[in-house]
Amino acid sequence: MPSLVRMKSILSPTLSFALNLPKATPLSLSTLPSRYCLCNPKPMQKPNFFHLKSTMPSNTIETRSLHTEASQSPPGEIHVIVGPMFAGKTTTLLRRIKSESSHGRSVAIIKSNKDTRYGLHSIVTHDGEKFPCWPLADLSSFRQAFGSDAYEKLDVIGIDEAQFFEDLYDFCRKAADYDGKTVIVAGLDGDYLRRRFGSVLDIIPLADSVTKLSSRCELCGKRAFFTLRRTEEMQTELIGGADKYMPVCRKHYVCGQDVREATRVVFEDQTVRCT
Ligand SMILES: [Zn+2]
Repeated sequence: MPSLVRMKSILSPTLSFALNLPKATPLSLSTLPSRYCLCNPKPMQKPNFFHLKSTMPSNTIETRSLHTEASQSPPGEIHVIVGPMFAGKTTTLLRRIKSESSHGRSVAIIKSNKDTRYGLHSIVTHDGEKFPCWPLADLSSFRQAFGSDAYEKLDVIGIDEAQFFEDLYDFCRKAADYDGKTVIVAGLDGDYLRRRFGSVLDIIPLADSVTKLSSRCELCGKRAFFTLRRTEEMQTELIGGADKYMPVCRKHYVCGQDVREATRVVFEDQTVRCT
């Protein structure tokens, strides 16, 4: 079945919040916004700045005001999921999104509008699991497409096949730093030549967490961290699934030319020959 792949590829929120507080202000759990409790099913709430102001010296009130003007919402989070093809990145993304939703948080998933594998408005895992999504050409158009009011109420944004979006860095930074969103990003970290793919690696310095998944080497069954192109096509962007790519271990990536030949043999004779 053909699938789409484009091969071209903090500070903690609590600390950031605390840095905006005057040193003399006692910081208790009651002053933290409720969203810092991961198990809290309630939507995020803005911190009670009025309560904080009543305890501030006058000079820090002015500084505090500048901070709140720059950031209307408490900081969010960025979590990055990378790995080769067939490693379960979309499955992991969906699991986290569903977990957030089950805790009462508002969620949305964005994918590239180039991804039409199973319909434009769904993402589908290799296991066949589906979830509705927003197909977009770029991330900067999400707020307008989603609606500003709806965006304000949104808690969690998932981005699938993130290597497609050239404005990934700016979108994630703004969404997490200033809009208070939790952004969960899934994408390929490297292309079939193990070079950086799109802007996925650029957001790692912004991230709260980075998860690199692995697959199983199609030739030996060991853990696979790389994606090998089966075909001789050389363009960076090449749409395809298992017909054009396969996950491989380091050994079988390094002997890639032999593997390509072995792959051809697999298709023809169901035999693998790779040393
Ligand atoms: Zn292998």
